[in-house]
Amino acid sequence: MAKHIFVTGGVVSSLGKGLTCASIGMLLEHRGLRVRLQKFDPYLNVDPGTMSPYQHGEVYVLDDGSETDLDLGHYERFTNAPLTRDCNYTTGKIYQTVINKERDGKHYEGRTVQVIPHVTDEIKAAVKCLVSDEVDVVITEIGGTVGDIEGLPFLEAIRQFALDVGRENCLYIHLTLVPYLKAAAELKTKPTQHSVGALRQIGIQPDILICRTEHPISQDDKDKIALFCNIEPRAVIEERDKEYSIYEVPLSLVRNGLDDLIVRRLNLRAGPLDISDWRELLDRVLKPDHETTIAVVGKYIKHRDAYKSVYESLEHAGIANRTRVVVRRIEAEEVGERGAESVLGGVDGILVPGGFGMRGIEGKIEAIRYARTRGIPFFGICLGMQCAAIEFARSLLELDDANSTEFDQTTQHPVISLMDDQSLVRNRGGTMRLGSWPCNLAPESLARKAYESALIHERHRHRYEFNNAYRKLFESHGFVATGVSPDGSLVEIIELHGHPWFLAVQFHPEFKSKPTRSHPLFRDFVAAALNRRERSVPEVEDHA
Ligand code: GLN
Repeated sequence: MAKHIFVTGGVVSSLGKGLTCASIGMLLEHRGLRVRLQKFDPYLNVDPGTMSPYQHGEVYVLDDGSETDLDLGHYERFTNAPLTRDCNYTTGKIYQTVINKERDGKHYEGRTVQVIPHVTDEIKAAVKCLVSDEVDVVITEIGGTVGDIEGLPFLEAIRQFALDVGRENCLYIHLTLVPYLKAAAELKTKPTQHSVGALRQIGIQPDILICRTEHPISQDDKDKIALFCNIEPRAVIEERDKEYSIYEVPLSLVRNGLDDLIVRRLNLRAGPLDISDWRELLDRVLKPDHETTIAVVGKYIKHRDAYKSVYESLEHAGIANRTRVVVRRIEAEEVGERGAESVLGGVDGILVPGGFGMRGIEGKIEAIRYARTRGIPFFGICLGMQCAAIEFARSLLELDDANSTEFDQTTQHPVISLMDDQSLVRNRGGTMRLGSWPCNLAPESLARKAYESALIHERHRHRYEFNNAYRKLFESHGFVATGVSPDGSLVEIIELHGHPWFLAVQFHPEFKSKPTRSHPLFRDFVAAALNRRERSVPEVEDHA
């Protein structure tokens, strides 16, 4: 029978609940257990796909094409748990099901449809659908902060859940903040007491408290938290801010005894912990042999999480190359305003990530021109590939007004245009080309060399594509499609002949990179950047 861990958050948002859940999953997997992870988000959008990255950060896409919360990215990077659309439910998605059932008239037999029990039943069903013979532990993260009105149905549902499956099969972990007050020079436990109080009012007594803090929590403070929150002192776990890398989190949780505690409380049949792979990984993070600077030129740079998986993938590529990757985050519009040389001078590689809409496009195109003409390694992703095509057409094919019809519907040269099956689409939610699609790689290409395979599968999220009417012209000038869909209709990867490393993809490789297994394209891109740096460093004469 599967056991359940429910993780709630208190005091403030952005405590890193997703990271903590991912770390717990990783630790349990390293003790031989089979885990599943899921997240509940209390907002009303059916999924985050229609939200601006400023609101929500990155939209994380799964193989099955679902557009999900970025915490699922942490789950995939830290664990091997398979993720599907059942791993992310919003209030909107739950209500959509309830309302559809009410409208079809078959389910509720004339009863009044209510939050309790109908909405809470649907939430519990969403947890249960992850349970199977192949699963030992289901970890469910409740988004938002305890005390929010919109989170109540989820908390009520997980309270009821223990009645359905037995309290001994459920573990409630509450992630909280223990702030440091400079003026008083001490840590404050009161917010945590209040937050646990709010949980207990709903009927949930947490079993374990994970306390986020900037400073070490003394045993006295732990005892105090334990007493006021009705928790065993050893179940008050400190999780201090990490200086270097998020990949330190699981190791610090081990030091504080979290995995043992969980295994004992849930009476799990677990093996000994072997995290030598993560220790090796961290060793590479903390003691790199090289350094390289990569510019990420995007539109949502100010939002830390808008390109989350891209930044993570660059870190993974650094790990693979034993290199510290310094990321220079550049607002695309600034390239136009201040000039490419002034914002991009000195970087070893340039990456243009995905995006939507007109703003910043010309700056991205200028950044790509700079990379192309200076021989700087360039990696384009989705919109980044589309911009590379536009740049090439304008600069080298004499198609001065070349554009994507996303930005100019009247262009004479739509080198990027709407995919056929997108022209009839009216609804915005979940209607792009989404999820995992196969792609054939050309021999002798950078892509083929990186993947070491002729057939790959990558995740997509776009409406526009490279316009095949221009393919011959591009190819005759050295801008070559080295990855195409198996039916030959969609260009998935382009490379530029005669350039040290210029590759752009229509898909999102950043969704398939892990710290323990860097994505091959990111790995080779960073290697190319490193190569350039090492080549351009003048040799220092040894006068000793
Ligand atoms: N806006 C472009 C399209 O829809 C690119 C999308 C993306 O970068 N994810 O095709």
